[in-house]
Amino acid sequence: MRYLILGSGPAGIAAAKAARKLDKDAEVLLATEEHAAPYLRPLLPDLVSGERELPGVADPQGKNLADLKVRLLGGKRARRVDSAKNRVTFSDGTEETYNFLCVATGGRPILPLALMGAPGSFLFLNSLGDAQRVRERAMRSDTTVVYGPGYLGIEAARAMRKLGNQVIWINPGLPRFGNPISGEVEARVTDQLRARGVKVHEGTEIADVIDVDGKNYEVVTAGGGTIRCHLVVVATERLPNIGFLDGSGVKAGAGVLVDEYLRTNVSNIYAAGDCAEVYDVNRRESRINFGWRSAIKQGQLAGENMAGGGKVYIKNAEDYFGLLFGTPLLERVKA
Ligand SMILES: Cc1cc2nc3c(=O)[nH]c(=O)nc-3n(C[C@H](O)[C@H](O)[C@H](O)COP(=O)(O)OP(=O)(O)OC[C@H]3O[C@@H](n4cnc5c(N)ncnc54)[C@H](O)[C@@H]3O)c2cc1C
Repeated sequence: MRYLILGSGPAGIAAAKAARKLDKDAEVLLATEEHAAPYLRPLLPDLVSGERELPGVADPQGKNLADLKVRLLGGKRARRVDSAKNRVTFSDGTEETYNFLCVATGGRPILPLALMGAPGSFLFLNSLGDAQRVRERAMRSDTTVVYGPGYLGIEAARAMRKLGNQVIWINPGLPRFGNPISGEVEARVTDQLRARGVKVHEGTEIADVIDVDGKNYEVVTAGGGTIRCHLVVVATERLPNIGFLDGSGVKAGAGVLVDEYLRTNVSNIYAAGDCAEVYDVNRRESRINFGWRSAIKQGQLAGENMAGGGKVYIKNAEDYFGLLFGTPLLERVKA
């Protein structure tokens, strides 16, 4: 038996470990576009601010994969899935076959239209590589515009301010996807950010970005204001990374559509985590349940079910996005 799991985030790692646990003799492959060892995405803002160094963001879940005989294949971005031949093609031209496939490719942040014309002006804050690039560039910058709603915008603004940058946070409003933090918490955290010197522009959008001289940029807001900066950090909601499934026959909405067993319409293909739109048996609706804890729970269940577990995914309120690492948000911002 050969299990192929795509993506080395919490969902993919949990799926690989669960499949291994139930099927001791199987081959378990974890293929990921990442070159880095598994890491804790929620701690990336601390890496940017300098509160943590690289070893401090390693994902403990990913540490014993070799001992469990889970083969980690780095630098493998899935480009195409041939579900008739049970085969995945990667962007480096290599292929892997499977008996069972689990798609756990998470999400990618949304890029506002206005930034597309000025590619040198912005960096995302989504992956380990992004965090390292943001920190490196921020050390050479004085003024940063952070763009993004809710929790991710707050964390990016906090980290950049902690690093000593002048920070202007453009908060476009409630996230359209995922689970917003409560309005009351957001208001208190925003006040704290202001008290720390972050300038907050609420309820507006970036209308344009003008490249002044390759080092300085002028951000034009929807209200007509202009902000001179060296860098724009994009900390927006993440949408499922599933374009490579086009033409595979696997059905998708915003995410990969799976039933309560986390199985797609193709019986040997499963999906878990931020890329999966899961059927909720209680509410009788499908939705993406973004978040670290939910990704682990879904990954584990998908891994077990690929190996014959037959368990139903029941969503709990506590599976929703929450701060899982370190101190609560308000205390972080005060520090
Ligand atoms: C800065 C930041 C802070 C966050 N803080 C929190 C928090 O405090 N609490 C919380 O609950 N959530 C938080 N989140 C969200 C949380 O990180 C995600 O919900 C979680 O990582 C989802 O896990 P996943 O395994 O589904 O996907 P991911 O963690 O996104 O992992 C997917 C993996 O698949 C890889 N991949 C993508 N496409 C391909 C492909 N085509 N082929 C091969 N590999 C591919 C990616 O490189 C990645 O390694 C945060 C997110 C960010 C960006």
